[in-house]
Amino acid sequence: RAKADGRGTARFFEPQMDKWLRERRALQRDLQAAISQQQLSIVYQPQADIGGDVIGFEALLRWNHPTRGNIPPSVFIPIAEESSLMIEIGEWVLREACREAAAWPRKLSVAVNLSPVQFKHGDLDRLVKSVLIETGLEPERLELEITESVLIDDLERAISTLGHVKALGVRIAMDDFGTGYSSLSYLQSFPFDKIKIDQSFVRNIGLSQSSAIIRAVIGLGRGLDLPIIAEGVESTDQLAFLTRESCDQVQGYLVGRPRPISDYAKYVGRAEDVEQLARVRPAISA
Ligand code: C2E
Ligand code: MG
Ligand code: MG
Ligand code: MG
Repeated sequence: RAKADGRGTARFFEPQMDKWLRERRALQRDLQAAISQQQLSIVYQPQADIGGDVIGFEALLRWNHPTRGNIPPSVFIPIAEESSLMIEIGEWVLREACREAAAWPRKLSVAVNLSPVQFKHGDLDRLVKSVLIETGLEPERLELEITESVLIDDLERAISTLGHVKALGVRIAMDDFGTGYSSLSYLQSFPFDKIKIDQSFVRNIGLSQSSAIIRAVIGLGRGLDLPIIAEGVESTDQLAFLTRESCDQVQGYLVGRPRPISDYAKYVGRAEDVEQLARVRPAISA
């Protein structure tokens, strides 16, 4: 909608900007129908201890748009976060993931990501409590992943909500650790149960800076008595490094990609043969 009398620059940028805004508005509108039309689904990515045993899964949201196909969460979550849609979607994910995990024969954990919006507007502690009761999932098997952005806006309120959730027996993990501004001070303000080392550091294992940072975070975990999980582990070299450094847990394409849970039926186990089916891969000697 470039102005007829516009100068060259405005004319050059406006059509693209306009297109982008229209796209965004269209996606926001489509997203409103996504839950009721069953376009949202959850894939599950295994988390393993360093010896290779699957200990749980992270629930990751997917949107299969009727005409555009799969739209990644990095695109649609920020759009959902601009309105109360994120509250509704977040609630749906939590309920679905807990219902799913409650049906697994092995007592594996399930990790669910929370948006900062759910802290600001939702009645989060009451929601978690009622979902646990409704689904029958043991609170100890639920882990909620938050990033430090949750703590930035209203630290007091977030800490109080997290405290109530923790009191239910649910664990709280700090996601994407090391990518924010003051992760260390947040570790002091709230008793997290796990730290997830961001995949950007894991990707660069082999460069001395990233190796040093990972070592330091693992040391921090040991000092604080917190388990550390490395995200984005794709290669055996990365795994060997993490094993040598005594990282506690790993998650990444090497262990398994995010997939429909039916693809992981053997890890979830059958009641009878839980024992021998738990291992994802042979242990690797560092
Ligand atoms: P996240 O919570 O840090 O999730 C990890 C992301 O890394 C996932 O991307 C996962 O598919 C990807 N990943 C896992 N292993 C590897 C690997 O070995 N290599 C590479 N390159 N990537 C790997 P995904 O599923 O696209 O999700 C992106 C982000 O969207 C998540 O980051 C999370 O912040 C957000 N998200 C996803 N589902 C939900 C949800 O249900 N609620 C909320 N609030 N956020 C969600
Ligand atoms: Mg996460
Ligand atoms: Mg992460
Ligand atoms: Mg992330």
